[in-house]
Amino acid sequence: MSVFDVDLFVIGAGSGGVRAARMAAGLGVRVAIAENRYLGGTCVNVGCVPKKLFVYASHFREDFEAAKGFGWSVAELQFDWSCLLAQKNQEIHRLQGVYQGLLNDSGVQVIEGQARLVDAHTVAIGERQVHCERILIATGGWPWIPDIPGKEFVVTSNEMFTLDKLPKRMLIVGGGYIAVEFAGIMHGLGVQTTLCYRGTKLLRGFDEDVRDFVAQEIQKKGIDIRLNAQINRIEKIDNVLLAHSDQDQLIEVDLVLYATGRKPNTASLGLESLGVALGAGGAITVNEHYQTNIPSIYALGDVTDRLNLTPVATAEAMALVNQLYTDRATTVDYDNIPTAVFSQPNVGTVGLTEDEARQRYPDIDIYKSVFRPMKHTLSGLDEKTLMKIVVNRSSDKVLGIHMVGPEAAEIIQGMAVAMRAGATKAVFDSTIGIHPTAAEEFVTMRKPVHP
Ligand code: FAD
Repeated sequence: MSVFDVDLFVIGAGSGGVRAARMAAGLGVRVAIAENRYLGGTCVNVGCVPKKLFVYASHFREDFEAAKGFGWSVAELQFDWSCLLAQKNQEIHRLQGVYQGLLNDSGVQVIEGQARLVDAHTVAIGERQVHCERILIATGGWPWIPDIPGKEFVVTSNEMFTLDKLPKRMLIVGGGYIAVEFAGIMHGLGVQTTLCYRGTKLLRGFDEDVRDFVAQEIQKKGIDIRLNAQINRIEKIDNVLLAHSDQDQLIEVDLVLYATGRKPNTASLGLESLGVALGAGGAITVNEHYQTNIPSIYALGDVTDRLNLTPVATAEAMALVNQLYTDRATTVDYDNIPTAVFSQPNVGTVGLTEDEARQRYPDIDIYKSVFRPMKHTLSGLDEKTLMKIVVNRSSDKVLGIHMVGPEAAEIIQGMAVAMRAGATKAVFDSTIGIHPTAAEEFVTMRKPVHP
């Protein structure tokens, strides 16, 4: 008879927590999971899923425009924000039910409420205390806003999913993927959108060509991008917000979104008093087994602030459960993780950027193509596509693949499989294209470009 109430206590029913809980329970482990807000966590409720639904919604404006070139006439466009919200809420509700069902069916005990650690083997939810052999912290992250005068007037990505009404004019502060995605969404929905970033280029960490290209494309569509501009304070006069920048610019809008980063959700978990080691910004420090400096306490996903993506959190969860409860120990390979920005057009990327490749290898070949997608020959829209392959000349191995264009995220997923299989440029060249597609360009680029 175990001295513990449960074998594994998971804090946070988001992407990582739910996957770990139900996988472990499926192996006969006694699991409880605590959730204080919403089943499914960030991704389902205020992240990937509603965001992608909004991207679809906003893209229709351009689709209606493009349709004219193909002979369609479209009556006056009308968009109903409350209808989109209701539809989105219904879908999120359905997904929450799916998560609840998955947890119930695998025998996980679901506890509603805010959990905190009492000691290395005890979790408290309100008055209730649960003794557990192991604790897994999967509490994710939370938007972070700099401490400027007027910060109380701004919203974060969380609130963007429940706005009462669409603003007419909006300022988005930030240069990362969430800022760029929301700029595309709001612009597409008809909001006059300004994107303000203190850095020199958007999308830090992405390939430089991709960064330049995205900025150029979204600017062409009408998003007002202001770089090297820092907002110092926000003033509210009646219902109007005035954002003051360090360039003495005054930006007058109805809504300000700060997409200026996220911080791990570690406050009020009781970690400091237990001596759990925390890194920069409060991220939980773990070893390669997702174990903290306290052997019975584990952490994964955004709360460890490494690669903050849903598929990474779920992969970590599966690796952890395999390590702890099976004889098939698996690890997560953090190299060549594909990722996307659901900007309009999309970015899809896998592997090294050109700069990273040049730092690691002496001789790099770059294959690059910029073209007008076939659809836009008739649509009349001036949107271009960029495709780029980074190759190690000596081994011919493909090191990085980058795309900006329609369905880039869908296309790059397949490219990521080729890269994991160690594809060389010769393999790409010998692959027959699918015609006519944009994707075929990846197997028909023959001549490296010279810088
Ligand atoms: P989360 O999913 O955040 O789950 C943590 C859960 O813990 C939450 O439900 C929270 O309520 C709960 N919790 C916190 N503290 C406690 C406590 N003390 N007690 C009980 N419960 C607690 N990723 C992608 O891969 N693709 C995308 O397109 C994408 N788009 C995104 C768009 C936005 C706007 C945002 C914000 C994120 C996006 N992400 C995307 C990132 C993705 O959502 C996260 O990487 C992922 O959700 C991390 O999973 P997690 O399990 O670590 O944490």
